[in-house]
Amino acid sequence: MRTADAIVVGGGPGGSTCAWKLRHAGLDVLVLDKATFPRTKLCAGWVTPEALHDLELDPGDYPHSFMTFDALSLHWKFLGIAPRTRQHSIRRYEFDDFLLQRAGAEVVEHKVKSVREDGGYYVIDELFRCRYLVGAGGTACPVYRKLFHASKQRASRLQIATLEQELAYDWQDPTCHLWFLDDGLPGYSWYVPKANGYINIGLGGIADHLKAKGGHLRDHWRLLTAKLEQRGLVRCDDYQPGGYSYYLRGDVDNVRNGNAYLVGDAAGLATRDMGEGIGPAVASGLRAARSIVDGVEYSLAGIDEFSMLLGRSTAGERVRRWMLR
Ligand SMILES: Cc1cc2nc3c(=O)[nH]c(=O)nc-3n(C[C@H](O)[C@H](O)[C@H](O)COP(=O)(O)OP(=O)(O)OC[C@H]3O[C@@H](n4cnc5c(N)ncnc54)[C@H](O)[C@@H]3O)c2cc1C
Repeated sequence: MRTADAIVVGGGPGGSTCAWKLRHAGLDVLVLDKATFPRTKLCAGWVTPEALHDLELDPGDYPHSFMTFDALSLHWKFLGIAPRTRQHSIRRYEFDDFLLQRAGAEVVEHKVKSVREDGGYYVIDELFRCRYLVGAGGTACPVYRKLFHASKQRASRLQIATLEQELAYDWQDPTCHLWFLDDGLPGYSWYVPKANGYINIGLGGIADHLKAKGGHLRDHWRLLTAKLEQRGLVRCDDYQPGGYSYYLRGDVDNVRNGNAYLVGDAAGLATRDMGEGIGPAVASGLRAARSIVDGVEYSLAGIDEFSMLLGRSTAGERVRRWMLR
């Protein structure tokens, strides 16, 4: 049996960030991921400057596709605004692999099925064991299912369903477009150009609301692609979107159980307004590592619950206060 100081289940941004900091502190760290990296991760791939700051990542040192937007084009019915805000786009296929390699931890391709506790250790599939266990396996994280699910179930009202596709595409419009509540979608759809000839298009909405309206994401997808075509943004004869669901942040009060920690989507930390999860995954990964290394409390306090798309402006602050009432 392979014994490590810490085992991180899941090598996405939450897991790799945690592993990176644990390695810095000199711990023997093993990352288990069911996928072979680089791997496809369904995601619009839009990252904030705050997330890059937390990752200590200077865009100039990042060797892969990277684009910066100084404004976003927001649409609602017939209205359109373009608030100034700095955002970036990356491709998760490249970004996650880069972060995982940078972490410097041993990575083993393995789909985790069982987790049990034994004499102060966590034993995984009778093959690996550790003193500290980090669940960073996204929505279906086995650490969440085995050690947290019974005491705290995620609220179904916070589940969002998505459909998206990243395509190699010679795009002409370098603007990032977002359409809100289009055709009754309880969420938004997007067109995000990427450097080196890629785009990501997709949509997501609160699953319960979609069900209550009798709507189907596939129908919204057809409407979205028709609109993109009509606007001359994308033309494609054979779309093959993929679906994934994850959770917006609710009252997350159970993210540590003994020496087991939950980070990122495993804990359900995506922002309530925009469903952005990369920044919260990174921030929670950093905090879990700090808790393991320094013995401090693992707390999510201060990790953004809202993206506040309109920036940290007065208007954005008002919206935030209103939503937090
Ligand atoms: C369509 C879509 C668009 C999105 N767009 C954005 C966006 O633009 N910006 C943003 O900030 N957020 C976005 N998000 C949310 C964001 O993708 C997630 O919040 C983020 O990836 C969470 O990171 P994570 O490290 O917690 O989990 P993940 O990135 O999901 O990583 C989890 C890892 O765990 C591994 N794993 C799972 N189960 C097991 C197992 N049993 N054993 C071993 N390994 C396992 C997986 O292979 C995976 O590599 C989007 C999400 C979707 C679905």
